[in-house]
Amino acid sequence: MRIDILTVLPELLESPLNYSIVKRAREKKLVEINVINLRDFTTDKYKSVDDYAFGGGAGMVMMIEPVFKAIEKLKGERDYDEIIYTSPDGERFTQKMANMLSMKNNILILAGHYKGVDQRIRDHLITREISIGDYVLSGGEIPAAAITDAIVRLIPGAISDEQSALSDSFQDDLLAPPVYTRPSDFKGWKVPDVLIGGNTPEIEKWRFEQSVTRTKQKRPDLYNED
Ligand code: SAH
Repeated sequence: MRIDILTVLPELLESPLNYSIVKRAREKKLVEINVINLRDFTTDKYKSVDDYAFGGGAGMVMMIEPVFKAIEKLKGERDYDEIIYTSPDGERFTQKMANMLSMKNNILILAGHYKGVDQRIRDHLITREISIGDYVLSGGEIPAAAITDAIVRLIPGAISDEQSALSDSFQDDLLAPPVYTRPSDFKGWKVPDVLIGGNTPEIEKWRFEQSVTRTKQKRPDLYNED
């Protein structure tokens, strides 16, 4: 799998994509991630990527030309399954979407900046617009990193114990059950007995019940009776 991220601020993506599970997945060659600097595709000596909005008003707009040139060059090198634009008005990012995207081969993510990108890029080159939530960030780099991280940890082999990704919250519309580690008694705060007993079917049953209770309490919107 390959994920290309087009950005005006490559530095913002350095640390999120170079630690932990994503780092190991890259080292194991399960995924290739390339951060591409949009300024490499500018035509003027100031390397401008933004300009004033037609019609006036506050804020700059990402110019069409550098983005177009970058996407055209990248598309000439491979077929993208998805060309994603991160945007607060996009489709809300979910675990289901992460699962679907983790099965693709080539993904390009365009991180927006300023007031956003010239609408014509969205109309003609973007195949999917994704929001990571109903709030506005300064740029699309953190959303691009969040989307990439969620996808990469689902690639088989990225997590040593594959069960671990499957038992995460949302995978089955249930939140994950509580987890504990040693000591079993910390100043009188005790770990539930069932987890210490070693009876695997009992533990599984307890975990499932806890997941259901938690989901009903914290996220009734996720819970359906079947
Ligand atoms: N004027 C825009 C917001 C621009 S924020 C609006 O009101 O919709 C600058 C850039 O940050 C956006 O172009 C987008 O790429 C990114 N961004 C901000 N919040 C985001 C979110 N919740 N999800 C995905 N991308 C977001």
